[in-house]
Amino acid sequence: MFNNKKYVFGDQNVQVPAHLNFGKFILDRLRLRNDEVALEYAETGEKMSYKELTQFAVNLAVGLAELGVGVGDTVAVGSEKRNEFISTVLGIIFTGATYTPLDLKSGRAVLKHKLTITQPKYFICSNLFWNTYSDILESFECIKTFITLDVDVIESVIPVKTLVSKNVNVDLFEPMRVQGQTEVAFILYSSGTTGLPKGVQLTHLNCILNSLADDFKDESLKTVFLYGEWYHNYDTFMTYKFLYMGRKIVYVKEPSPLSFLRCVQNHQVDIAMIVPSLVGYLSKSDEVKNYNLDSLKIIYSRSSPLHFKTIETVKKRLPKLKNILQGYGMTECGEPTSESWAIKGPKPGSVGMASPGITSKVVDPEKNEILGPNQRGEIRLRGPVFMKGYIGVDPSTYLDDEGFFKTGDLGYYDEDKYFFIVDRIKEIICYDGNKVAPLELEAVLQLHPAVKEAGVVGKPVSDYGEEPTAFVVRQPGFDVTEEELVKFVALEVSPYMQLRGGIKFLEEIPRNSRGKILRRRLRELLSEV
Ligand code: AMP
Repeated sequence: MFNNKKYVFGDQNVQVPAHLNFGKFILDRLRLRNDEVALEYAETGEKMSYKELTQFAVNLAVGLAELGVGVGDTVAVGSEKRNEFISTVLGIIFTGATYTPLDLKSGRAVLKHKLTITQPKYFICSNLFWNTYSDILESFECIKTFITLDVDVIESVIPVKTLVSKNVNVDLFEPMRVQGQTEVAFILYSSGTTGLPKGVQLTHLNCILNSLADDFKDESLKTVFLYGEWYHNYDTFMTYKFLYMGRKIVYVKEPSPLSFLRCVQNHQVDIAMIVPSLVGYLSKSDEVKNYNLDSLKIIYSRSSPLHFKTIETVKKRLPKLKNILQGYGMTECGEPTSESWAIKGPKPGSVGMASPGITSKVVDPEKNEILGPNQRGEIRLRGPVFMKGYIGVDPSTYLDDEGFFKTGDLGYYDEDKYFFIVDRIKEIICYDGNKVAPLELEAVLQLHPAVKEAGVVGKPVSDYGEEPTAFVVRQPGFDVTEEELVKFVALEVSPYMQLRGGIKFLEEIPRNSRGKILRRRLRELLSEV
């Protein structure tokens, strides 16, 4: 009955509309806009206005409902990024059905696994997705109807253009009513760095809270650049958040540093939602000097840690930039902390303060004791933004006895309640009784001008446990040696953290489709070299 004083709370006064319907939440805002650009595909300049986006989504919802789509059905979408992607998702949501995205780059085994978990009844796909995976799609008997975003692919496939052919009156349209606290709007997938991805069920309430826009309210942030993929929670919910605010979203199909630089310059991007590797690139690459990035006011970074020295270097290189902010996010629980909620402004290395609605605590996972400020332990989270659950997984495996989600992330908060993420608990290297976080070493290696990418794992050694060992990809044109890098790291870290296992040079660091380092694979490589 009593709150533990060591809990850390975000603002608990979060207001959500009483209908708890994610489709209605977004639609009511979209209807306020007109010919302003909602989405622009940077490479071709193809645009979609708010009016077009809304009309497409509403027409599609009616077309899908006539096909029989409704509450209780799951509709999968497999497509590359394109303007109609977002309005297709909204069309599905307006019918009351559940949407799940399937990713072109996931590979065959993961695709089969995801389809087995979610059992979609309808599948909306692009030609590219169909051509890549049609044999798998056709082998899943749960899929009763295929719909294509492009021209007809095979006879039994319904083209989306026939479903959106009726011009529905947007003002008279209402999304299907749902029980927003329990009915699932989105099924996204967990990262899958330790095993096969899990299906993360997000209710309408979860989706509203994930997109609720109270940060980035500054009206001068008109044009937003989204770097990542629309099947990942970060870019998915940033998209709805900025559409809710009526901003223009610019995106590229194949994210790369150069496409980012071109996009900022040519589209006068005000705010860029990107990942640490790209911030690292901005801190090092000479290419940056060839572009005018003066429009850029805010960089927001999430997904993995960013070294504060990298932030300082980028700020020096881009003098017009006001700030680089970090957030800590996850598919299961949205964005539990962010520097956009940080009362005293950003702090070096921090991922900000608890987001609205969040209750968090840091727990010693071995003793199960709740820890106070500046003590490292597992970050655990609770709140209405937390998912309904993983499909088919017993909640007792991921919730503790107080109903908090065990994130598996090692971190702490300081006396001002700013959070810091150290690493994934399972990735921690144990060297001679000391705990070494690979993420810290990777961030230090990234500071070296000759390092393009780095991944660190522990090499088993008999008396000391594991020796930190790095895999490094050199920047093109640089010829750094193992010895130079080992010395560079030694100057930056505690003696027990040094790269005693040495450095192996690679052409590429193995990553999953979301860009997270596959340390499992690096450990396998260790035993091969
Ligand atoms: P995902 O569900 O793919 O978004 O992955 C969530 C995981 O990414 C978290 O549990 C963390 O391990 C990691 N992560 C996200 N943001 C950060 C950050 N700012 N710093 C360090 N790790 C992060």
